[in-house]
Amino acid sequence: MSDLQNTDQPQLPGVVVTGASGRMGQMLVRLVLENPELRLVGALVRPGHDWIGQDIGMAMGGAAVGVIVSDDAVTAIAQAQAVIDFTTPEATLAFAELTAQARAVHVIGTTGLGPDHLAALAASARHAPIIRAGNMSLGVNLLVGLTRKVAAALGEDWDIEVVEAHHRHKVDAPSGTALMLGEAAAEGRGATLDDLRTPARDGITGPRAPGSIGFAAIRGGDVVGEHDVIFATSGERIVLRHLATDRAIFARGAIRAAIWGQDKGPGEYDMHDVLGL
Ligand code: NAP
Repeated sequence: MSDLQNTDQPQLPGVVVTGASGRMGQMLVRLVLENPELRLVGALVRPGHDWIGQDIGMAMGGAAVGVIVSDDAVTAIAQAQAVIDFTTPEATLAFAELTAQARAVHVIGTTGLGPDHLAALAASARHAPIIRAGNMSLGVNLLVGLTRKVAAALGEDWDIEVVEAHHRHKVDAPSGTALMLGEAAAEGRGATLDDLRTPARDGITGPRAPGSIGFAAIRGGDVVGEHDVIFATSGERIVLRHLATDRAIFARGAIRAAIWGQDKGPGEYDMHDVLGL
């Protein structure tokens, strides 16, 4: 792994990966190390984590790469040009304050952010670019555009349901991607998701509200991420489907965002901006 680290090219943007011990964090560390346009300059973990003080390459079971795992976000982020962050909403807010101070690009994959979190991120985005998406893959971002178009083309007699499946460790539901798809469907109908969203169904729920958008979440095993947008009317159904089989697709999207953001001013961006969709 050490051969792949661009330590001899200090002009390349320096990247800090947060949550470096996590599923996405480890994937990001590997792919940043392999990327010829970036340098890994920091690997942050939660305070008290037993990887602190170890070389991140060795902590992940490989060769040393010259980056020591730390819980000192202030020091790590001060020297970064980009922070790639797939952690928790609370951690992401704390990192956003530091990326704003450092004027570094903050790429946020963390999901489960509520209105208060988003308001705080908007404040940080006044100082530095924030690129955030509930799903960083090219395929899903294309699916979002298709969902908006299909919803706009079909009348209200077409019911819209978003069904998603994820691994057993996922803590939030519906997934960030399911919400992106629901938002796109609502936009296609000239509304917001808050107007049309049906709460999770359980028990005697009564018939489906016309024009509403429903969600169902399946959790099990090691499913990386599956999303169906179902448009159903009497006698026919359309199903738009995305299946993720490798979480590298999210990490690649996040890395592309970190590079894309290097010459962007403060503000909030998403993967549609990055991918030019
Ligand atoms: P995970 O394996 O649980 O990883 C999260 C990591 O964040 C853990 O290593 C955790 O450490 C760490 N962390 C928590 N608080 C921290 C703090 N204050 N400082 C530093 N590190 C901290 O989960 P995951 O599957 O990688 O997913 C992470 C997030 O990304 C979730 O919100 C998920 O929904 C989202 N996600 C988004 C996309 C996308 O494309 N946008 C794709 C996949 C996943 P501990 O284990 O020590 O608590």
